[in-house]
Amino acid sequence: MHIGVDLDNTILDATSAHLQYYNRASGLSLTPDDVNDFYLYRLYGWDEAERDAIYNKYGHEIHWNSSPLPMAVEILQQLFNQHQISIITARPLLFRDVTIEWLKHHKINYHNITLVENKLQECINSKVVVLIDDGPHYAEEFALVNKPVILYEQSYNLSITHDLVFRASNWIEVKKHLDYLESKLNLI
Ligand SMILES: [Mg+2]
Repeated sequence: MHIGVDLDNTILDATSAHLQYYNRASGLSLTPDDVNDFYLYRLYGWDEAERDAIYNKYGHEIHWNSSPLPMAVEILQQLFNQHQISIITARPLLFRDVTIEWLKHHKINYHNITLVENKLQECINSKVVVLIDDGPHYAEEFALVNKPVILYEQSYNLSITHDLVFRASNWIEVKKHLDYLESKLNLI
């Protein structure tokens, strides 16, 4: 099966690293419990231009200092041995090198990596069967065209429900959903 996997808040805890550097930049002290928006910068009252300036300044450190989520590395290793794994992230190309170094540092194997904002188009083009992601907007887009998504549960995506949106609150559940989808594919 060709599986697409997001990075931020799916393979790794992006929230904690962003909060650390965004707090430093703003003088605020937000915690993970304050996060209820996929677009974290909005919690700081910044507009996109302000966010870009801060993200460009701290992005390298934010991405390097993020930690893998529990069991993500182990389960991705199992998946890599059985499936085609494409990392699909909306990070800008500016952070391609630190992203690849981080994956290497954490011994995460994959077959392809793509930095792209339009994940639906990318998944259609590269024949990805299922995307694992935390982004509520991606889950909605995929559901609209009947493509399955495993939605990695975060505070800001709890309202998304659809037959083809498989919610997972940890990587054990991600693996269960993948096993189910694979068994269904084999019946076709
Ligand atoms: Mg993400």
